[in-house]
Amino acid sequence: KRNGRFQFLLAQDVARNSGTADRMSIRNRLSHAINNGLIEPYLQPIFDTQTNRVVGMEALARIPDVEGLPKVGPDVFIPVAEDLGIIEELSEVIVTGAVEFQKHLASVGFDLRLSVNLSRRVLYSDRLIDSFHALLEKTGADPKQICLEITETLAMLDIKNASERLHELKKLGFKIAIDDFGTGYSTLGQLYEIPVDELKIDKLFVRRIHTHEGQRIAEAIVSMARALHLEIVAEGVEDLETVNLLRNMGVRYLQGYLFSSPLNREQFEAQLRGGFNA
Ligand code: C2E
Ligand code: CA
Ligand code: CA
Ligand code: CA
Repeated sequence: KRNGRFQFLLAQDVARNSGTADRMSIRNRLSHAINNGLIEPYLQPIFDTQTNRVVGMEALARIPDVEGLPKVGPDVFIPVAEDLGIIEELSEVIVTGAVEFQKHLASVGFDLRLSVNLSRRVLYSDRLIDSFHALLEKTGADPKQICLEITETLAMLDIKNASERLHELKKLGFKIAIDDFGTGYSTLGQLYEIPVDELKIDKLFVRRIHTHEGQRIAEAIVSMARALHLEIVAEGVEDLETVNLLRNMGVRYLQGYLFSSPLNREQFEAQLRGGFNA
């Protein structure tokens, strides 16, 4: 079985072992994208199964495709950005862009919660609190409407320090989610130690939910979340059978290709106005 840590290392290895030329090209493409304002947040909707409405969106970083070169997604370029020390810059572009977009949507009548991903270096940056404080000042955003996601693996790597950081972010008013939940083997006791509002069930388990074992794992995650009074979001929902199984378990929030893949801001707003064809 692949656990979370293994997957995390795998993503880094893909970036590191893809050879100096590829690595240079990813590096070049990244800095070119950042320097030219071409890196942008895509948004994926989060559905509420109780109201059948889009209630939130997750920001996912994208860099432009280059003709003749393979697509490079954030699974590859985020670890490279971490290694190169440009992740904070990248993260700021994504988070600010997404928060400004959230504000724009609110001004045209759509109040959506926004989820953003925090990488290891960003979580442990000396400037973490200052920069999120500045973000609130600059944008006037409501931190209660912003959820910061960190992976379970990252939370458990150094739970004491992670917890401290998350407490500081909570003091600013942000919501906290544990991402890729189920891949990092945390215990109830550990989860209780960190200030968390939401669990996101990893798509690995969502994909397996129609199997007996997969269903039991999902149920275990749901009861853990219940015991701690946490919201639950299932990611990677691709078919209606999965929607029904999750609904029956009491999972309220769903995200996945069935509803929509991540879209750029213009596409997202257009789909939102059309109700995502719901
Ligand atoms: P994640 O946070 O777990 O994000 C969910 C990933 O699942 C996204 O991949 C999304 O496009 C994909 N996904 C959504 N629905 C489905 C589905 O129904 N089926 C399947 N198979 N996949 C689905 P993406 O956009 O390639 O991002 C990969 C990872 O890169 C993210 O995983 C996150 O860990 C990281 N990432 C993306 N953007 C950022 C960012 O701005 N900052 C940081 N620190 N990490 C980011
Ligand atoms: Ca996430
Ligand atoms: Ca995830
Ligand atoms: Ca992931």
